[in-house]
Amino acid sequence: MQEKIVILGAGESGCGTALLAKKKGWQVFVSDQGIISQSSKNTFDDLGIEWEEESHSLNKMQDAQYIMKSPGIPSNTPLLQSLKTSDIPVISEIEFASKFTNATLIGITGSNGKTTTAMMTYQILEDAGYDVALAGNIGNSFAKEVAENDHQFYVLEISSFQLDDIVDFAPHIGVITNITPDHLDRYDDDFTAYLKSKLRINENQTQRDFLLFNGEDPQLSAALENIVTTVTLHEFGASNKKINTTYIENDSILIETQKNKTMINTVEFPLRGRHNLLNAMAASTVAHLLDVSKETIRESLLHFKGAPHRLEPVLKIQNIRYINDSKATNVNAVYFALESMSAPTVWIVGGVDKGNDYEMLYPLVREKVKAIVCLGVDNQKIINAFQSITDLMVETQSMKEAVLIAQKIADKNDNVLLSPACASFDLFQNYEDRGNQFKQAVREL
Ligand code: ADP
Repeated sequence: MQEKIVILGAGESGCGTALLAKKKGWQVFVSDQGIISQSSKNTFDDLGIEWEEESHSLNKMQDAQYIMKSPGIPSNTPLLQSLKTSDIPVISEIEFASKFTNATLIGITGSNGKTTTAMMTYQILEDAGYDVALAGNIGNSFAKEVAENDHQFYVLEISSFQLDDIVDFAPHIGVITNITPDHLDRYDDDFTAYLKSKLRINENQTQRDFLLFNGEDPQLSAALENIVTTVTLHEFGASNKKINTTYIENDSILIETQKNKTMINTVEFPLRGRHNLLNAMAASTVAHLLDVSKETIRESLLHFKGAPHRLEPVLKIQNIRYINDSKATNVNAVYFALESMSAPTVWIVGGVDKGNDYEMLYPLVREKVKAIVCLGVDNQKIINAFQSITDLMVETQSMKEAVLIAQKIADKNDNVLLSPACASFDLFQNYEDRGNQFKQAVREL
C-alpha cells in the first residue's frame, strides 16, 4: 500500500517535505490554516500533490503514516489535539528528511548564534572541498536539499521547535551554542522545558557521535553534567582544560581531543566579540573532528563575512560607527553586542517585549552606553528598567527619527548600535525589515 504523509503548513519546511515525500513515492496531502503562496500551489499542482488552504480536513488525515507539523504551529492547536486520539506520529521536517539520506549530519541548536555558527561551519567544510549543504532554518529546508540534490554532509540550523518532534533524528555532531530564555511563550514560560527541548539533539546520538557545548553557559553545563549519554561530550569556551575541550590561549583556538591537539591562530579574525569567538571555537571543532586541516580552518575564518543584521558594520560617518544588530531579539544577544563595543555607545533598543529581564545588562549599560534611544510603540518597560542608570533617554517612533537623534547625540569616535532586545512586529515586518530600514536611514544621513 502506498504510504501517506499529511503535511501541516506549506512554508519552507512543508514544501520541502512535500517534494521529498512525493519523490519517494508517498501519497502527500498538504493542509494549511492560512493562504498558500501561488508559487507553492503551482508546484503542488505540477507534482500532483493534493493541498487545501484556510481549513484542515480531519477526515483526510486519519489514514496517514505520519503527520509532519511545521515548526511554526504550536502543538496545542485544536487540530493536533484531535489528531492525538488517532495515534499517528507527529514528526518534524528534519525527522522525515533524515530517513532518506546517509549523509553525515551536523546539527546546530541553541538560543543565539545558530545561524552564525552554522554559516561558519558550512564555509569551512565548503572551503575544505567537502560535498556539503547548509540547510534547516537557514536557506532551503533539509528535506528540499535531500529531495533535489542529496549531499554527503549537511550543516543544519535547528530550532527547538524542530527538535520537539523528532523520533530517530541523530546528528553525528550536535552543537549547542547556549541556552538562554527565549520563546518561552511556546513552553508555558517553563525554562526547564525549553532546555530539555534543546537537549533532545542528543537523544538518539550513539557512542560514535559528538555533542559540542558552550562550557561558559552555566545552565547548559549543569544540565549536561547530569545527562546519561554514550557520546563524546566536547566543551568549547571553558578555560579549565580537560580532554575534549576547545579554548583560547594566547590568541589561538586550541582544540584537544582524545586523539590529538591542534592550534588555530585567531589574529586578524574579522568578527568582533566574545560570542563570535565562541561560535568560531564551535565551528573549528566540528571541522577538526571531520579532519579539516588547521590551515584551511584559519583561512576560512579569516575570510568569513558574517551574516547581515548580526553586529553588521554599516558605515562610519564623521567618525561615528553605525552597527546593525537587528537580529538581537533577546537580552543575551544584546549582552554580547554591548560587551563587544569598544567606544561609548548610543544604543537604539525596543520593540515587542518577550518578557525581558534587563538586569544582566546593567553593568554593561553603565560602562558603555552614553544614551538610550527607545524605538517601539510601548517603551515604558525600557524606561523603567534603565532610567536610573542612564543620563539620557529619548523616545522615538520611527527608525528615521531614531537614527537622526542618535546621530545628534553621538560624538566623534562613538558607536551607534541598533540592538533591540525585542521582536520587531510593532513597527516592522520582521527583523530584516528593521535592519534594512536602519541601514537606509544611516545611508541618508
Ligand atoms: P540565531 O540563529 O540563534 O538567532 P544568530 O547567529 O542569527 O543566532 O545571532 C542572533 C543574535 O545573537 C545576533 O544579535 C548576534 O550578534 C548574537 N549572537 C551570535 N552568536 C552569539 C552567541 N554565541 N551568544 C550570544 N549571542 C550571539
